[in-house]
Amino acid sequence: MQLASSMARLGTETAFNVLARAKALEAQGRDIIHLEIGEPDFDTPRNVIDAGIAALRSGHTHYTPAAGIPALREAIAEEVSRTRGIAVGPQNVVVVPGGKPIIFFSLLALAEAGDEVVMPNPSFPIYESMVRFVGAKPVFVPLVEEQGFGFDLDVFADSLSDKTRLVILNSPSNPTGGVLHQDQIETIARLLADRPRAMVLSDEIYSRMLYVGKHHSIAAQPGMLERTLILDGFSKTYAMTGWRLGYGVMPEPLAQAVTQLQINATSCVNAATQMAGVEALRGPQTDVDHMVEAFLGRRDRIVAGLNAIPGVRCVLPEGAFYAFPNISELGISEQAMADGLLQEAGVAVLPGTAFGSFGRGYLRLSYANSVSNIDRALERIDGYVRRLGRA
Ligand code: PLP
Repeated sequence: MQLASSMARLGTETAFNVLARAKALEAQGRDIIHLEIGEPDFDTPRNVIDAGIAALRSGHTHYTPAAGIPALREAIAEEVSRTRGIAVGPQNVVVVPGGKPIIFFSLLALAEAGDEVVMPNPSFPIYESMVRFVGAKPVFVPLVEEQGFGFDLDVFADSLSDKTRLVILNSPSNPTGGVLHQDQIETIARLLADRPRAMVLSDEIYSRMLYVGKHHSIAAQPGMLERTLILDGFSKTYAMTGWRLGYGVMPEPLAQAVTQLQINATSCVNAATQMAGVEALRGPQTDVDHMVEAFLGRRDRIVAGLNAIPGVRCVLPEGAFYAFPNISELGISEQAMADGLLQEAGVAVLPGTAFGSFGRGYLRLSYANSVSNIDRALERIDGYVRRLGRA
């Protein structure tokens, strides 16, 4: 089969490949603990499910406006204005199937050959994949363990150039759980003031999963609202990964371009899902608070457990639901260890390099799993490491 040459530049999200391998082992009767895929193990809140069902029953089974139904765009604009301290309206909102299409559409709308896109490394693999796909060049800012996986701002300053078209930020971060603090965001905004051509894609999909302090968006910095595209969605916050519901909040001309891409790609998000999204935002938030509280307890458990394994060290993530332990002292590559843990110990994890070359020497473990599964996984990882030591 001859494919377009651009397909050779398209990457992937390894989590889905590892999930498929883990499922295949389960089909053979193996017991696998899933710490690979980044999705809450909780059910979607009951009131949201009920709203989706009621929407289907009451005839929300047709096309909707491409950018989303007015009620949802309004609810999103209000939520984002309130939580980020900015003033945006429904005209700035585009509702899409999951957070991912915002990455796809924003790169298609903004970047092309000759452009540079500055982004963290390690980071969500779809950023690099899409940057390369549109023919632009990724410029990596390493996230350094010694700095709690924050941005090294000197390196960031050096990475900007006249060719910078887009800067991608992700706080709290996948895969490290690191967070950009207010002073760092202020510095990034100051540095970008000298680069008027550079836009920002601020991936804030984990903004509710924050264990220290308050979420800060670069969109609230002076002069940045007109240059920032906020990505957020329902997958993580409301345990709605399978519903496929996310959104971007952006300057109106960009919202029109992204809407046009959506018309070409998917027409709109399914109508009942959008109605469920309105309920998620406007209804009670107690389920979200409980999930975040549970993630906090699991974070402490998994990080303590990893640090108790000889040769493994893990910084305490401030947000999201991922631990990113350093395994470089074990004398085994992250890929070999991820393979070994899956095949020999029945624990599915991702190698740090699934998120870029600066993930070498690390694993990513999603702790969106029950405490009992986390404890069983820790026991298995400990046993695997001890066997490695004896080998
Ligand atoms: N951005 C980041 C940083 C993510 O980790 C993910 C999902 O893992 C997404 C975006 C996409 O989320 P969705 O499943 O809503 O497309």
